[in-house]
Amino acid sequence: AIILGIESSCDETSASICIDGEIKSNIIASQAIHAKYGGVVPELASRAHQQNIIPTVDQAIAEAKISKKDIDAVAFTRGPGLLGSLLVGTSFSKSFALAMGIPLIEVNHMQAHILAHFIEEPKPQFPFLCLTVSGGHTQIVLVKNYFEMELLGETLDDAAGEAFDKTAKILNLPYPGGPLIDKHAKLGNPKAFKLPEPQIPELNFSFSGLKTAILYLVRDELKENPNFLQERMDDLCASVQDRIVTILLNKLKKAAKQTGVKDIAIAGGVSANSGLRSSLLAMGEKYNWNVFIPKFEFCTDNAAMIAIAGYHKFLAKDFVGQDVTPMARMEM
Ligand code: ATP
Ligand code: MG
Ligand code: FE
Repeated sequence: AIILGIESSCDETSASICIDGEIKSNIIASQAIHAKYGGVVPELASRAHQQNIIPTVDQAIAEAKISKKDIDAVAFTRGPGLLGSLLVGTSFSKSFALAMGIPLIEVNHMQAHILAHFIEEPKPQFPFLCLTVSGGHTQIVLVKNYFEMELLGETLDDAAGEAFDKTAKILNLPYPGGPLIDKHAKLGNPKAFKLPEPQIPELNFSFSGLKTAILYLVRDELKENPNFLQERMDDLCASVQDRIVTILLNKLKKAAKQTGVKDIAIAGGVSANSGLRSSLLAMGEKYNWNVFIPKFEFCTDNAAMIAIAGYHKFLAKDFVGQDVTPMARMEM
């Protein structure tokens, strides 16, 4: 079966073609416009999606060397995400399915981040644990099969990606700051600054205290030394990243212990972080886990993960009608 996957939940317009479970193309149009506002502006995002969606889909079809009429179903992100952004992908997908007379498949964006692990070998075995860390979510999920996923814990305030991005803003780094913190962290000392580790019950997370701690630290140091940021950027980034990574991995370790599951995966944009990737590998080695880390292109938002999720729903004949509407908030 040939599935067209469409992703438009935030600021990436993406289209992908999946043929019998194999990804043949994955085109991503990122929206540079948000950088100068220091974050995603929803109104601008939906307009950019409108401009990008048709050329992105055309390119995905061309690169897969198929023709439009070969497509058997359209899978799209129904939520969660920005409503105006989701609306563009949803409306496009509905029109495409109607025009071509093919079924429509709704996909949950957070499930898709996890299902990115089924794009290529090695694939985890069910049940496995997934730490999903992205711009809007931080979750520990017990993945029982392709669509049965149990939320074991989540953030009570900011997401891990938000913690990276908001800290970057305090450090005067441009948006999105996550990748820049990663870059500076490679050159710094992770123990240079002592940052608090919040004591949050069970498998939940909190990152808002960390942001405040950094804000005060930077404010106080700047009073003494106006060049503080320039001089200590690498150490600051290394310390922040180290703290975020330890918070995440301590909870993941707890979840592995509680469930006895040894197949452990990470997903979402923050899973591109080099510190998280290397610390997880080290921890996996220590505890005898089978660790699964997505390829970089499948960490941040992409339609390949939507297409692969759609493929498995297609096999299960799990279709939706033309009355489907996007959902800004959507449970797994
Ligand atoms: P959600 O999936 O929760 O709806 P989203 O789709 O906006 O949110 P993703 O695209 O999965 O999120 O991830 C984007 C986030 O990943 C941003 O916060 C970004 O800073 C962060 N990120 C990307 N690369 C890195 C990196 N190397 N280190 C740290 N953070 C990173
Ligand atoms: Mg994005
Ligand atoms: Fe995402």
